[in-house]
Amino acid sequence: MQNKFKICALVAALASATSALAAGEASNVIFFLGDGMGPTTITASRIYKYGEAGALNMEALKRTARIKTYSKDAQTTDSAPSMAAYMTGVKMNNEVLSMSADTSAYNGTTPYVSGANSTCPATGNGTAVSTLLELSKAAGKAVGAVTTTRITHATPAATYAHICHRDGENDIAAQVVPGSGKFNSALGSGVDVLLGGGSKFFIPTTTTGGKRTDGQDLTALLKTAGYTYVNTGTAFNSINPATTSKLVGLFNLDHLNYELDRVKNSVDEPSLADMTEKAIKILSKNSKGYFLMVEGGRIDHALHGTNAKRALEDTIAFDDAIKRALSLADLKNTLIVVTADHDHTMTINGYSHKGNPILGKVTDITQTTVQGKRVLAKAADSLPYTALVFGNGGGPRKATRDDLTSVDTAADDYLQEVGVVLGSAGSETHGGGDVMLMSTGAGNATFKGTMVNTKVFGLVKSALGL
Ligand SMILES: [Zn+2]
Repeated sequence: MQNKFKICALVAALASATSALAAGEASNVIFFLGDGMGPTTITASRIYKYGEAGALNMEALKRTARIKTYSKDAQTTDSAPSMAAYMTGVKMNNEVLSMSADTSAYNGTTPYVSGANSTCPATGNGTAVSTLLELSKAAGKAVGAVTTTRITHATPAATYAHICHRDGENDIAAQVVPGSGKFNSALGSGVDVLLGGGSKFFIPTTTTGGKRTDGQDLTALLKTAGYTYVNTGTAFNSINPATTSKLVGLFNLDHLNYELDRVKNSVDEPSLADMTEKAIKILSKNSKGYFLMVEGGRIDHALHGTNAKRALEDTIAFDDAIKRALSLADLKNTLIVVTADHDHTMTINGYSHKGNPILGKVTDITQTTVQGKRVLAKAADSLPYTALVFGNGGGPRKATRDDLTSVDTAADDYLQEVGVVLGSAGSETHGGGDVMLMSTGAGNATFKGTMVNTKVFGLVKSALGL
């Protein structure tokens, strides 16, 4: 009898331990996404800011994994299915946002979009799949999305919207606004904090810069739904997170400025670190925890333009936001994940001396200095070349390479050389290589090895006990 009692007590104790595990180790998740922040961009940003032997804040995170990013139909993904894979666990086609795998972004060869309006058929082209943000909201948590791009752009949209083509940004905006007629009811009372750019998709064409063709002013509907709405950095700074629970900040008609320009021109937009801090302070008031997505979105845009300097500056700003979050979050109950949605084609060339500026020209380590100056390495055409170049990019094909001998390749607007020239209307493409994932805090133990991007969804979901 006594033994039987002991066994019963043991079973009860095991059951209680199991249910504690099922509840999840993390109450809170902060999911950081550096758009296009491939491994080389991380290395170049580290050298740019902290030197070869230094470390970014994200590199101090406890655990590292390697992520395969291909989409359902493409070897090289675009941002939509890659972020959606993290958010939903489903592999979908390029351009598709948080829809089932059978969803097509094209009707034959015609994209399901007209201007900024979606033309996705209402039925017969896939169904919405739940996102981590929606699941968190349903569990009673506070939720938020913060970005430097338009809040309707692919990465933030993948957290809260479902659409067969990412370019239907008028419809994406309507999905996040209660009372718009297209509100995504899976968001319950709505996304608690939304910060970024893209107000043009929230205001009608009758207002300067507005793109909405349905005449709606979604900013007015947001206020009706109980949101505080701000559109300048100054107004944002005056928001008291202790007395604010629902906040939308759209600080630009389009994307926010690149960090380099925001600082240089004293633009009245908040930094990504400041937006991250305010979001955490508002969301963490919820006793059931929170889910927050933070995107460094313009890293990708600068890389598409083969403007390495702005990409590195935006990566540093993204890394500073991670540092801010680490200073605010309690890692005993908060999981922090930092990753990218895809790579780009930037690479680091040559054998420059250690300490040579990463935006500079490659120096020849085999040569001694001449009159105190390092000798530049030369290509077959006897001309110098930069450490950073791109595998492809826009611009006209040149008969001969530019002589960079007296060019300041660290200037703000210098565009790196490219291998394959895609033409004047072209834009550097994403890279198909794997990306890094770094994590720390509650429930990070499983984020290791090489895994497909869809697996990350399940790991975050388990960490949250959802
Ligand atoms: Zn992307």
